[in-house]
Amino acid sequence: HAKSEGGNRYLFFNDSMNKQAVKRLQIENLIRHGLKEDFFTVYYQPKMDIHTGKLVGMEALVRFITPKRGIISPGTFIPVAEETGQIVEIGAIVLKKACQDVKNWIDQELFHGRVAVNLSAKQFMLPYLCEQIDDILQQTELPSYHLELEITEGTVMQSPTIAIDTMKKLRARGVHLAMDDFGTGYSSLAYLKQFPLNTLKIDKAFIDDMNTARGRNMVDTIVTIAHNLSLTVVAEGVEEKQQLLQLKQLRCEVIQGYYYSKPLSADDFTQFLRQQQPQKKSATVEQSALR
Ligand code: C2E
Ligand code: MG
Ligand code: MG
Ligand code: MG
Repeated sequence: HAKSEGGNRYLFFNDSMNKQAVKRLQIENLIRHGLKEDFFTVYYQPKMDIHTGKLVGMEALVRFITPKRGIISPGTFIPVAEETGQIVEIGAIVLKKACQDVKNWIDQELFHGRVAVNLSAKQFMLPYLCEQIDDILQQTELPSYHLELEITEGTVMQSPTIAIDTMKKLRARGVHLAMDDFGTGYSSLAYLKQFPLNTLKIDKAFIDDMNTARGRNMVDTIVTIAHNLSLTVVAEGVEEKQQLLQLKQLRCEVIQGYYYSKPLSADDFTQFLRQQQPQKKSATVEQSALR
């Protein structure tokens, strides 16, 4: 113990730990400032039907854009925000903004599908999560079936029984649920079967491995599991045509990735929606978008 070693206590706080702690504190302060100054915004990445190439939905992705430092990537600030609890405030901003933007697109008849919003573990565990979502849907006048929430295996496995209960409450409201980054966490098949999910998102790492037979077998297996559980499969991080063709063969339904589009600002996404217009009034598209 550091204490028993008296004056040598400092040795335990070595230089790299020190640097890490300072960095973390800097990011925490940056986030606090960013929240005060309204530097958090939301980008959207399209999700496309693999067969028709038409838009079925989009994922909302938080962006932290500061005038001084430019874009700070989620990979940098989300883990800190999760640790400090600031993610709860950021998450509420993202949820509200995403619901507002989608409501606007629906009112303009540019879109009929669902927006998917990522929930952190801390957010998902909030005792008032369902009420918060009710409030936001009411304030933004967005019908609940236009909202999907993405959660990870890590989030639900922290306490599966409570998680199942929360998931059921959300589903009862008409909100859809997706398991994000599937295959990178530690959820068991026994639990997966009990989670009231609609969608399973295959992590980009598996898509990247599809250039090998083993990698393709892996994706094949995941798709089979998902379909046995009646889940729609979304492939994340699709960058190449070859991957798209292979995913189609493996009966994956939806793809998301740079192959179609990077995440776009709300204004750029509006343009993207306008370009999708010829199929605007088609009833079949409307139905498949809400499948
Ligand atoms: P995620 O939810 O799995 O989101 C997908 C990530 O993959 C996004 O990174 C997206 O920009 C990126 N991506 C999509 N297609 C491609 C591709 O073809 N190639 C490559 N290289 N990347 C692709 P992003 O926006 O940096 O977000 C990273 C992670 O941060 C997200 O992973 C999610 O876990 C978290 N995150 C993002 N926004 C939010 C949020 O609003 N709330 C919470 N709690 N977490 C968020
Ligand atoms: Mg996600
Ligand atoms: Mg993911
Ligand atoms: Mg991810």
